[in-house]
Amino acid sequence: MVDHNWPRIAEALAPVEVIDDPTTIKKRSRDFFWYSPILNEKLRRSFGDLVVRPKTREDLTHVLAVAYAEEIPVVLRGGGTGNYGQAVPLHGGLIVETTAMNRILEFGEGYVRVEAGALMADINAALIEQGWEMAMFPSTQDIATIGGFVAGGSAGIGSIANGALREKGNIIQLKALSVEQEPVEHVFDAEDSLQIHHAWGLNGAITEVTLRTVPTRDWIGCMAGFETYRDCYAAGFRLASSTGIGRKLCCTVDARIVDYFPRLDGHVPKGSNLLVALVPREDMGRFEALISEAGGTLHLAMDDAERQALKLPHVFEFAYNHTTLQVLKADRSATYQQIGVADPSDPDRVAAMAATLGDDVWPHHEFARVNGEIVAFDLPIIWFRDEARLREIDATYEAGGFAVYDAHTYFVEGGGLKAVDYRHLAWKKRLDPKGLLNPGKSACWEDVRNLSPDEIEKLGVAESAA
Ligand SMILES: Cc1cc2nc3c(=O)[nH]c(=O)nc-3n(C[C@H](O)[C@H](O)[C@H](O)COP(=O)(O)OP(=O)(O)OC[C@H]3O[C@@H](n4cnc5c(N)ncnc54)[C@H](O)[C@@H]3O)c2cc1C
Repeated sequence: MVDHNWPRIAEALAPVEVIDDPTTIKKRSRDFFWYSPILNEKLRRSFGDLVVRPKTREDLTHVLAVAYAEEIPVVLRGGGTGNYGQAVPLHGGLIVETTAMNRILEFGEGYVRVEAGALMADINAALIEQGWEMAMFPSTQDIATIGGFVAGGSAGIGSIANGALREKGNIIQLKALSVEQEPVEHVFDAEDSLQIHHAWGLNGAITEVTLRTVPTRDWIGCMAGFETYRDCYAAGFRLASSTGIGRKLCCTVDARIVDYFPRLDGHVPKGSNLLVALVPREDMGRFEALISEAGGTLHLAMDDAERQALKLPHVFEFAYNHTTLQVLKADRSATYQQIGVADPSDPDRVAAMAATLGDDVWPHHEFARVNGEIVAFDLPIIWFRDEARLREIDATYEAGGFAVYDAHTYFVEGGGLKAVDYRHLAWKKRLDPKGLLNPGKSACWEDVRNLSPDEIEKLGVAESAA
């Protein structure tokens, strides 16, 4: 590790804004890794050395050239809302905060082109005025950037209609800078964007993103209650697979979790297992019929003006990882896991799994459409005792045929990907030959860093042929 003279580096980075105040550096060295007690223990003492705030691509080019010349680790950071320590600097160095690179550059029929640091809430607000909206966005849209979503996220509100980010047509183009003596901007079109998507900023600094947009609709935020979680889940699956009812959010939350949502007091009776959905106004009649046939009661149905009048957050702030956050606000001994449901169409199997797991695991399912199929992900609340019990819970899921996408690892290969992505690593070698971007987050980089990019790519071809 090179011992850097930080005041001199700060001078070299000028005229780009540099923050050396220790409190700000500490804050910007964190993301939402503390959801996991295991990651919290491993990452809470990892800090960067300087925060840098480029405003333009030229600024960012200068920062990366200085990092290359001085061999300084670089972690790109958007809103810092990632869950696995994705944006935590393990080896110190520069935290490059992109939020000042936030211009919306262009939008038209079915697309939007923006700088990487633009907030998704701002993008959606601009699009909605023109009759469009993002095909999907995370529940953190108010503070998360589009670059962070494309580099660290996978799906969100809208995925029940439009699929995961990685699906054909959702990412139209990405541009990313290399870390070299003279950084070069590379353009990745359509399918090629997967070389950079979900690589956690390991293999290029994303400067610009072009994404698919869809016509906006008059969305109604809905919450329906059910006596049993099984019936609630069954209604969720029916809505998710419905062809006659539009929806951009469909999730189900166990009643014990709902009791941790004080904002819903007076709106939703205690003890309700909750179906949370966004449904277009014109389909509300059919939605209400579905709820009543499934044995539920519609407690809330509100458009955005009504929601604001009731002083309630968006319904998606009770979904995705916001569900977990609502519980963590009250009790930090909770954590969660990411589970793929074996057969999403079978509510009895889901209920049986919940019964097998025991009282320390409370279910919460998100439905999405992946490659045309309805899938369900469980993001259960787990009352954390120790790692041994967490791994026992994982093993119970796996024994029942459910997939575990571990949320308690900071390696890119360890969670959602579940495998080494040699294309990511080959592009890392091309764009980051010194391995300065987000060091320590790939469990496999050290094994391949001395190979050529083509040799690294061949490892992936050999693995898929085997
Ligand atoms: C309450 C809560 C709810 C969430 N809900 C969702 C959800 O619905 N769907 C979902 O997918 N995720 C969700 N997440 C995870 C996270 O909010 C999203 O992935 C979000 O889009 C990340 O954006 P960010 O700007 O905060 O990225 P950051 O956390 O700042 O960064 C994420 C990763 O991207 C890298 N990165 C950032 N900018 C760039 C860039 N310009 N170039 C290259 N790499 C870059 C970082 O180094 C890091 O590895 C949730 C998290 C929380 C805490």
